Amino acid sequence: EQCASIVSLQEIMHYLSALIYRQNVLIGGDSSSTTTDSASPVPNSYESLEGGGYSDLAAPPAGVPAKQAPPFGYNYPTMHPAYQQNPVCKMAVFLSSALGGLGGVSELEAETLRPVNLLQERNILPPKRAPPPEPNLSNDLRKVNCSPDTFRCTLTNIPQTQALLNKARLPLGLLLHPFRDLTQLPVITSNTIVRCRSCRTYINPFVSFLDQRRWKCNLCYRVNDVPDEFMYNPVTRSYGEPHKRPEVQNSTVEFIASSDYMLRPPQPAVYLFLLDVSHNAVESGYLNVFCQSLLDNLEKLPGDTRTHIGFVTFDSTVHFYNLQEGLSQPQMLVVSDIDGNHLVKDLLNALPGMFTHTRETQSALGPALQAAYKLMSPTGGRVTVFQTQLPTLGAGLLQSREDPNLRSSTKNVLHLGPATDFYKKLALDCSGQQIGVDLFLLSSQYSDLASLACVSKYSAGSVFYYPSFHHIHNTAQKQKFQKDLQRYLTRKIGFEAVMRIRCTKGLSIHTFHGNFFVRSTDLLSLANVNPDSGFAVQMSIEESLADTSLACFQAALLYTSSKGKRRIRVHTLCLPVVSQLSEVFAGADIQAISCLLANMAIDRSISSSLSDARDALVNAVVDCLTAYRANGSNIQPSGLIAPAALRLFPLYVLALLKQKALRTGTSTRLDERVFSMCELKSQPLQQIMRMVHPDLYRIDNMTEQAALHLNDSVIPQPPLLQLTAEKLTREGAFLLDCGSVMYLWVGKCCNETFIRDVLGFQNYASLPSNMTEIPELQTTYSERTRAFISWLLESRTFLPAFHVVKDDASTKTSFFQHLVEDRTESAFSYYEFLLHIQQQMSK
Ligand SMILES: [Zn+2]
Repeated sequence: EQCASIVSLQEIMHYLSALIYRQNVLIGGDSSSTTTDSASPVPNSYESLEGGGYSDLAAPPAGVPAKQAPPFGYNYPTMHPAYQQNPVCKMAVFLSSALGGLGGVSELEAETLRPVNLLQERNILPPKRAPPPEPNLSNDLRKVNCSPDTFRCTLTNIPQTQALLNKARLPLGLLLHPFRDLTQLPVITSNTIVRCRSCRTYINPFVSFLDQRRWKCNLCYRVNDVPDEFMYNPVTRSYGEPHKRPEVQNSTVEFIASSDYMLRPPQPAVYLFLLDVSHNAVESGYLNVFCQSLLDNLEKLPGDTRTHIGFVTFDSTVHFYNLQEGLSQPQMLVVSDIDGNHLVKDLLNALPGMFTHTRETQSALGPALQAAYKLMSPTGGRVTVFQTQLPTLGAGLLQSREDPNLRSSTKNVLHLGPATDFYKKLALDCSGQQIGVDLFLLSSQYSDLASLACVSKYSAGSVFYYPSFHHIHNTAQKQKFQKDLQRYLTRKIGFEAVMRIRCTKGLSIHTFHGNFFVRSTDLLSLANVNPDSGFAVQMSIEESLADTSLACFQAALLYTSSKGKRRIRVHTLCLPVVSQLSEVFAGADIQAISCLLANMAIDRSISSSLSDARDALVNAVVDCLTAYRANGSNIQPSGLIAPAALRLFPLYVLALLKQKALRTGTSTRLDERVFSMCELKSQPLQQIMRMVHPDLYRIDNMTEQAALHLNDSVIPQPPLLQLTAEKLTREGAFLLDCGSVMYLWVGKCCNETFIRDVLGFQNYASLPSNMTEIPELQTTYSERTRAFISWLLESRTFLPAFHVVKDDASTKTSFFQHLVEDRTESAFSYYEFLLHIQQQMSK
């Protein structure tokens, strides 16, 4: 028997402590490869590492005590970067006849300020997914600015004062996707990483050179010396052009960091898989899918020769495996070198069969997590948990809190927060030892995700959820799980990371959203960092920005790569500062605003109540449109008027109110609601927007008109349709792209050529009701359809689940729930919602 005799939990834990004491046995069995004494925790002073505001280990010898920064804005009030002229375009003043009170607007902004009567103008969706608004900057600055896919601000025109921001009644904040996959990334290896002596900002394209020897920081305005090394440009191989260095030419760069940026030697990539093997888990069949997927991707796990991989299984007890080199077959216990690959493979091949006949129904998840924490503490790394039920034994056990009768409550929803602080505390311990915990929940029963998710939330992990997972009965979810694992196992990973966001003096960051632990006021601790996580921050304006025409934001992410290199990824965003309310409205980024509001609403639904959170969302629209009306004269009092830049605001808020996270009156299982909350809090902006307001296209009649021609293939571009059943016809086939799921709704009278050439069936009647793929058929129709879908998926890292929806299919309800403009028994239609807003405004 490969699995050693099952002993009591206590014995296991006792045995485990003994093992940890001899930790050279645990990690790879090679005592020379372990340098960290398990008794001494990892130093925690990351604050000083990345460089706090003012004092810093890594600081070059400072001539001026850092805290005595020069007074803000006095010496160099409006100096622009030396090599760029006119950062802000001076444009003709535009005065809309309807907006007498909103003067001072550039021509470019005219369209964004066009007053739109929402009650009259029904077709407000652009034909294509709208690009983010372009900040009103000079071409030179625009060219070097940070990509909106990485860094976006809710207001692309930054109000000069908090008073002006208050007038607009819009939230000010940033949406970040800092570690996303990039095809091009300038990597800089130099002896000196040039940073401001005072505020520790990394040199970037928006600093100004006073001369060849001095540069002025764009965040705190301190004048710094240009180091000698900087006088040489490795790209052009020329001297004396410090402003042409790659650090000053690119707003996204990565530095290879020196030992100044380390508290200990960079950790190896260590992966521990924590597998539920209870009866419930075995029944679901996930173990087989997981083991097969890991076998397929074992060689692609990010890492190097130092990489370690280990497994722990648990039901009512916790089991460990010995994978040391030299053994003929895996034994219970321990973590191994990935080079001892054959044992890992043997174990993965054997695991699914080992528990086939188990009768264990209990789950000791808490003790298993504690064991994982102890195992991983000496190095740090990533723990991946697969759980299929409510934990029932030992520390962290949970009880069911869901009342199925209250699933469609129209009032308040209880138990959105954790039942115990066990998982949060454990996560904080993990974070302190640089351990990130990711959770895969595969369960058809209530598992209290609100409590379990805390283990990932505070350790900078990710949460995946597959409700009603079954390897045979739910093909769509099995396929989704497989696709997700493929991405999850092979995606880039950063270890022992910290992220700091700095902004121009006068601006201040006060609330962070995402999965992390806030180490100090502005330093996020990320035990692991992955390329699929997004973050949001809220900001306020503490001091007037009247002395500057530009505001800048810089995110610096310090991490250890899977190959053991310390790296710093730096993104810098530059935006103009404005003094007129009309300009603030004109620069509003409605997608970023909606995402930030969603994050704020989730927090509010936990700290206060769901109904409070919903009210706050509605009020955000009411307040903003009221502010707009109050400041523009000549607007007809009868309509509901929004500036064009904000015309989608009521629609997006209505869509938010209909999300599983925030809806009422519709049956919503508690775990699904909580998962939707997790997604809104941790996904990047584009993914959130597809989830909140999906894209609907008619695809049975796509033509080549306006099609894209890319690499010999023709990609049709059908226009976006409004999310209402009015747009569906029984003669058509419609694709609904919700980000993590895609539906293809086929009308009863859909033309049979489409059904035959694209779906491979003779007619509507012969279409199965559980189709989860489009076949690869050699017809023009099929090729065109697949080309369009592949194009939609091009830049996505996680591939969506796919459902072909017929009128009699079970997926029909979920498809129609995404048509957010339509009324439901408990929620407004879009038009009703507009009337409701109008009514609230007249109060
Ligand atoms: Zn500075």
